[in-house]
Amino acid sequence: MSLFPTYNRFPLTLVSGSGTTVTDDQGKDYLDFVSGIAVCNLGHRPEEVQSALQKQLDQLWHVSNLYQLPSQEEAAERLVEPTNLDHVFFCNSGAEANEAAIKIARKYTGKEKIITFKQSFHGRTFATMSATGQEKIQKGFGALLPTFEYLPYNDKEAVEQLGDDQVAAIMVEVIQGEGGVVPGTAEFLEAVESKCRDLGALLIIDEVQTGIGRTGKPFAYQHFNLDPDIVSSAKGLGSGFPVGAMLGKAKLAETFSAGSHGTTFGGNPLAAAAVNATLEKIFNDSFLSEVEEKGQYLKEELTNSLKPLNVVKEVRGRGMMIGIELQKEAMPVIHALREEGMLAVLAGPQVIRLLPPLNVTYDEMSSAIQTLSKVLQEQFKDLQNA
Ligand SMILES: *Cc1c(COP(=O)(O)O)cnc(C)c1O
Repeated sequence: MSLFPTYNRFPLTLVSGSGTTVTDDQGKDYLDFVSGIAVCNLGHRPEEVQSALQKQLDQLWHVSNLYQLPSQEEAAERLVEPTNLDHVFFCNSGAEANEAAIKIARKYTGKEKIITFKQSFHGRTFATMSATGQEKIQKGFGALLPTFEYLPYNDKEAVEQLGDDQVAAIMVEVIQGEGGVVPGTAEFLEAVESKCRDLGALLIIDEVQTGIGRTGKPFAYQHFNLDPDIVSSAKGLGSGFPVGAMLGKAKLAETFSAGSHGTTFGGNPLAAAAVNATLEKIFNDSFLSEVEEKGQYLKEELTNSLKPLNVVKEVRGRGMMIGIELQKEAMPVIHALREEGMLAVLAGPQVIRLLPPLNVTYDEMSSAIQTLSKVLQEQFKDLQNA
């Protein structure tokens, strides 16, 4: 085996995909409620993105950011259009988008400290690993960046008590994804913003997982009365083509002047083609309101059919980002679901996370709910149900 053993991979080799269905090397189909971890928001190989990429493949792949790239400018305009943000820096991943956010916040404010939250996830580079409030991610790598502090998530008082004037930014997820699909409350998120204003700090919202329509809005912060200075995006942004982006307010423009930051690949013509085709489809009011309706249906139906099971502690989340917290370890359920032809992913040891494509059908959702209900009943038949 020539790969570093960085991943605990499932014994499954997927060879093709279309819509919500993926097929393994034995010809078995699976209902994909992972979407490559919130990446394939339009399902596998959506027609519009596939044809945009195919067209671009025939023209030009890569020239670097040394030259004018009108399609990258178009992608930036599409990305900021439904927001109060003005400029975009394209990169290649969520970690890089957050890395750019941390750099610009420090340079703009002239301050160093970044406040983040326990159980957050912001990436695996040195700065974003330091920002991530989980020891298991940081262990063994030596000294972290010294200027990160972690507050408890959804703890409005802890935020209000923050009285430090060295804070460059507070960085927060609207729903903690890797941390267990934990939705932030309006009171908490709004307290974070007002603390930023008090301290002269920037509000950075990490929308790497929650953005690009996942919760039924272009970005999840738009469900609240929030006005971030910086938003990071990646995962769903290119429908599976690797691309990330940092969005920021006009006041930040000079801080990222020529020569201050950069990347070779970021926003190349292939990435820009994927972003433009993806956003054309997703940043559309009727598409997004359907996502919101389907999300409500999914959460309600899951709650109705799973809540009576004693093993189920809570069904939570928003749009196409749902967590089912169990009283027990969830990994055996993930394996059993796979055997039944359904893919789901963990978010912490006791949470089953569902991230179906945003255009999942009602039939696919009912089928997933039935499979989940059957598997949970079988696995935990010893637990008395209500
Ligand atoms: C996945 C994720 C990241 C990291 O993105 P990569 O593309 O893996 O670097 C950062 N923040 C959040 C909220 C994420 O879910």
